[in-house]
Amino acid sequence: MKKKREAWLFFLLFSAYLVLCFALLAAPEQGTFLFPLLVGLILLVAWLMGPGVSGLLILVASFVCLGLWNQWPEQQKIFLVLNVLQLWLIWYFLIRDDRQTIQSRYEYETTVLAMEKGASELRKETEFYQRRGEELRGKAQQRQDLAACAKDLGAILDTTEIQARLLRWTRKCFPGAQVFLSGLVEQDPLDAWILQRRQAVLCEDVSTHPVFSRARVEPGTKALMVAPLWVENNIFGGLRVESSSPGRFGRDELRTLDALGTLGSLTLDNAVLYHRIEQSAVRDGLTQLLTHRAFEERLGEEILRAGRYRYPLSLLMLDVDHFKRVNDTYGHPAGDEVLRRVSARLAASGRPVDVVARYGGEEFAVLLVDLGKDQAVEFAENLRRGIESERFESGGYRYNVTISIGVAVYPDEAPTPPQLVRAADQRLYQAKTQGRNRVVWG
Ligand code: GH3
Ligand code: MG
Ligand code: MG
Repeated sequence: MKKKREAWLFFLLFSAYLVLCFALLAAPEQGTFLFPLLVGLILLVAWLMGPGVSGLLILVASFVCLGLWNQWPEQQKIFLVLNVLQLWLIWYFLIRDDRQTIQSRYEYETTVLAMEKGASELRKETEFYQRRGEELRGKAQQRQDLAACAKDLGAILDTTEIQARLLRWTRKCFPGAQVFLSGLVEQDPLDAWILQRRQAVLCEDVSTHPVFSRARVEPGTKALMVAPLWVENNIFGGLRVESSSPGRFGRDELRTLDALGTLGSLTLDNAVLYHRIEQSAVRDGLTQLLTHRAFEERLGEEILRAGRYRYPLSLLMLDVDHFKRVNDTYGHPAGDEVLRRVSARLAASGRPVDVVARYGGEEFAVLLVDLGKDQAVEFAENLRRGIESERFESGGYRYNVTISIGVAVYPDEAPTPPQLVRAADQRLYQAKTQGRNRVVWG
């Protein structure tokens, strides 16, 4: 539209110019009137279209003037020369002005360009700092998450719950990725790598990796990371994070996963150790029977229950006769074996409700629930006979052991735990003094 209007304007101006030139040719004596019109027109062209086009018009106009030299009246020739000179003078100023305009426009454009460049650099810098800010914010968030995860995991001692929470925290740190726990097999190249180096591994695109492309991964997996999980220095599995976008994980992500794996492993280690310590307080290491302390606790509970539901409890205190001799004759390991076998027989003889404990060195306690004196004595006799009939062997020598048993009954003979233990203990002592290998009851 604009171009069309410009073409029209040019056409009009050029027509006016041609008309003026022809008028000059046709009526040179009117030059003093026509020439200023021509100058005006050229100035208008120069203003609208620049000095290039107007220079061309001046050149043509000059030739027209010179061509009319002979036809011009003598007294007007001086005006003609002055007019031509005036035309060229105007053109000179136009050119000079234009040069200045071009120069200042150039300077202006250079300044604008420099400013735009500066602005674009500033924009880039701002974007960089924004990105960096976001990265740092992300890292700070991850550290916060890790600290929260450490606190959260540290508060639990159940290994299944620890694993579930570890997965939850890992999913929070890697939203959108597939997170799971897996076992490790030596035949798998990725698992083998972890088992050998005991380190977390990162693979940006498993499908193009020369070695790990043979690893078993979920269908569609490209990027993956695995951190080893261990308990008591044994790697038992891996914390895996997988994504279908290649290059999704980098060094920072690997560090985070490694930290999560270490946290999970330490917590599991801690929980396993705790259970072991707890277990060792409850179960005797040699015989796997309840310890003295655990027995006292159970005895208290059982007496409360028996009191409430009004049924009897019978306590058997047992001691291996002349056990010192076994140790002295066949050695300590043989003595241990005797203790293990006697314990196994005690544990097998009782019902699941009964409580069997290693009360001291070679002393045992059996609490028979809801059994009165007669049944308890019968039970004790069976035990005594059973152990008497067991054959032990050490270094080619065969030998037997016997036990002495004291029986006391709740509530008839003793209404409290200490009294019950004391009563059974006294009868055990009596069994010893009466010649051992016997059961004594009240
Ligand atoms: P008594 O018939 O009067 O009970 O005589 P004893 O020899 O059985 O009793 P004594 O108390 O003199 O000796 C008990 C021995 O049991 C002493 C101790 O070294 C041994 N002993 C205690 N605990 C263990 C153990 O865990 N393993 C072994 N091998 N021996 C133990
Ligand atoms: Mg003994
Ligand atoms: Mg003893």
